[in-house]
Amino acid sequence: MKLALTPAQSAFRDEVRAFLRDRLPTTLASKVRRGAAVNKDELIVWTRILNARGWAAPHWSVAHGGTGWSLVERHLFDVECRLAHAPALSGFGFNMVGPAIIRYGTDAQRARFLPAIRNADLWWCQGYSEPQAGSDLASLRTRAVRDGDEYVVTGSKIWTSGAEDADWIFALVRTDDTVTPQRGISFLLIDLTTPGIAIEPLYAFNGKRLWNQVYFDDVRVPIENRLGEENAGWTVAKRLLGDERLMVSRVAENRRLLSRVVEILGSETADGQPLADTATFARKVAALTIRLEALQMTSLRLLSEADRGGVIGAEPSMLKLKGSELVQALDELIFEAIGYWVMPKDRGITGNELPIGPDYAEYVASASYHHRGYTIAGGSSEVQHNIIAKEVLGL
Ligand SMILES: Cc1cc2nc3c(=O)[nH]c(=O)nc-3n(C[C@H](O)[C@H](O)[C@H](O)COP(=O)(O)OP(=O)(O)OC[C@H]3O[C@@H](n4cnc5c(N)ncnc54)[C@H](O)[C@@H]3O)c2cc1C
Repeated sequence: MKLALTPAQSAFRDEVRAFLRDRLPTTLASKVRRGAAVNKDELIVWTRILNARGWAAPHWSVAHGGTGWSLVERHLFDVECRLAHAPALSGFGFNMVGPAIIRYGTDAQRARFLPAIRNADLWWCQGYSEPQAGSDLASLRTRAVRDGDEYVVTGSKIWTSGAEDADWIFALVRTDDTVTPQRGISFLLIDLTTPGIAIEPLYAFNGKRLWNQVYFDDVRVPIENRLGEENAGWTVAKRLLGDERLMVSRVAENRRLLSRVVEILGSETADGQPLADTATFARKVAALTIRLEALQMTSLRLLSEADRGGVIGAEPSMLKLKGSELVQALDELIFEAIGYWVMPKDRGITGNELPIGPDYAEYVASASYHHRGYTIAGGSSEVQHNIIAKEVLGL
């Protein structure tokens, strides 16, 4: 892999930049820049702007409204969007169930769901984890029993992010408990307005509704809403993780955060000197920048390899681990620089009280609390370490 972009890649990046300059609403970018929460209506507006340009689902196959971009182009697009402070689209539809429907769906499912996801008409959430099944997901117990041309679903899903905004949930359910755990699981698409579903909020330690618990009490789901074959849900879920696992490095997000760090350290002073010019902070910024460069190079190396048709093994576990840890390290540096502004008020909780301190301090606490989950969600760091030890290092 060459470290410089090719002329075609540079031209592509410039085209993306120009589009973002023209079409990204400034009010939205300003909210994202400050770290304020973007609500569903705002995200719908941005999704539809991207969809009108054909860029809402860059990674989908062209036949289903994707772009046909290479992985490196997708990476460049992602980085430019983050640097311009565009909000990330809802991953559940675009990155998870959408690609799964493309691969495993029937024509009817594709026609019904894919255009609706691209245009943000349908919102999804992910029903995998259960009170007794997280890292050991295959031990899930929510049951789906066939009754005529329907399944009757009973059980509960936990840590379901975004269920309060979602129209549908894609869920792993047990359809056979006489076989080994992975072989008795099916993948269902469930309309959240179906009778028998209750959604209860779960609050994080900072008082925010970060998740939900979703209860299913004799919920009737048409068999036509199963994705893939009965008892093949584990394969669908694994493939779904596989499709997106190369994009887990959070390089774009880390670059956005690092630019924030530089802005803050340039503005805050100690003894009349910008923090950026002090040896302590300069050394820490340099160390984090080097970590980010290494992450980006490793990520681009793997993406280029995949673009060339190479086989990628468990290496993305390294990207997930390093990318999520780097976000948290950048958060820590911001706290070190402006913790005294950040801690007294987390505006996300206190709502209508005026923030104190500079505007860049306003949402630092809530963002950082949210980022704590990055080393757990999508497979905890310990689990990533296990995978790397076994499959990359051969231990
Ligand atoms: C912000 C956030 C959002 C989430 N959103 C969703 C969502 O939308 N939908 C959904 O289905 N789930 C979601 N989850 C749940 C997430 O997938 C689980 O939290 C995760 O899989 C871990 O499962 P657990 O919480 O049950 O922890 P456990 O699996 O019980 O793990 C507890 C601890 O033990 C460690 N551990 C477990 N197994 C091993 C092992 N074999 N070796 C070494 N250590 C081990 C873990 O690393 C962890 O530290 C979300 C989680 C977070 C934090």
